[in-house]
Amino acid sequence: MRKSIVAALATLALFPTQALAWGSEGHVLVAAIARARLSPAALAKVDAILAQDHDGSTPSDMLSRAVWADIYRRDHRETAQWHFADVEKDHPDFDAACFGHPSSAGPASTGPETACVIDRTADFARELGDPDTAMAERILALKFVLHFVGDMHQPLHVADNHDRGGNCVLISLGSARTVNLHSYWDTVVIGELGTDARNILTRLSAEITADKAAAWSVGDLASWARETNAVALGTAYSFATQPRCEQSPTPLTFPKGYDEAAQRAAATQIERAGVRLAVVLEKAMRPLNIAGLSPAQ
Ligand SMILES: [Zn+2]
Repeated sequence: MRKSIVAALATLALFPTQALAWGSEGHVLVAAIARARLSPAALAKVDAILAQDHDGSTPSDMLSRAVWADIYRRDHRETAQWHFADVEKDHPDFDAACFGHPSSAGPASTGPETACVIDRTADFARELGDPDTAMAERILALKFVLHFVGDMHQPLHVADNHDRGGNCVLISLGSARTVNLHSYWDTVVIGELGTDARNILTRLSAEITADKAAAWSVGDLASWARETNAVALGTAYSFATQPRCEQSPTPLTFPKGYDEAAQRAAATQIERAGVRLAVVLEKAMRPLNIAGLSPAQ
């Protein structure tokens, strides 16, 4: 496992983190936590599926593939809305944020275009664990699941204040450094957890006690998304901001204690996401057998 993590972390430098959701580092941390928790049987199946994927846009290991959906989105704008659920702060309606839960006919990778991250994660997890899914589609389903469980735990991917999930709120970080609120939660706060991703991983993994893991494994995608939304309202949107998309924004300054609370919340969300990604993968891999995974279709 360690070799794989080191290799994946080394590849992070290849990705421009700014445009990525939940930052590439956040996704890799989530995948690394999940990978360490998978049973040998589930891990072997995950790796067997990934071994048949020859897409060159990221390295082919599990941790690197957790970032793939953000790369894919650049040339596949029809998948852009799948990464979040705009649950409005002033009118929290998950059904509306998920466009009334449209059903997908045919392979999940073909749509629908307007669907939220919660439903898309469910669609791809179901498809991933279906023995009848064609290998090419199973590979896509796995890569979307690896990514979307992470996105579902980024607070500003499951909350909105008419500000495009914080993209329109400019924050001053001092010394003339400004960043929008969404980017702060995607990358800045993760960077503040430490300079060495391996050290961060060791620390976060150590914080996951058996009791916490058991508690976090309860529930489903919908309840986990509600919890993420609560983190957004309680922490990310814990200061009064007005929607700022239609005006030239003046940078806001965080209230005292915001940054520390954000770091704690982000660390916990990554830990939860890692535990839950393992739960989702474990369940999806159970009905599959290795022999049934080849040949590639
Ligand atoms: Zn994403």
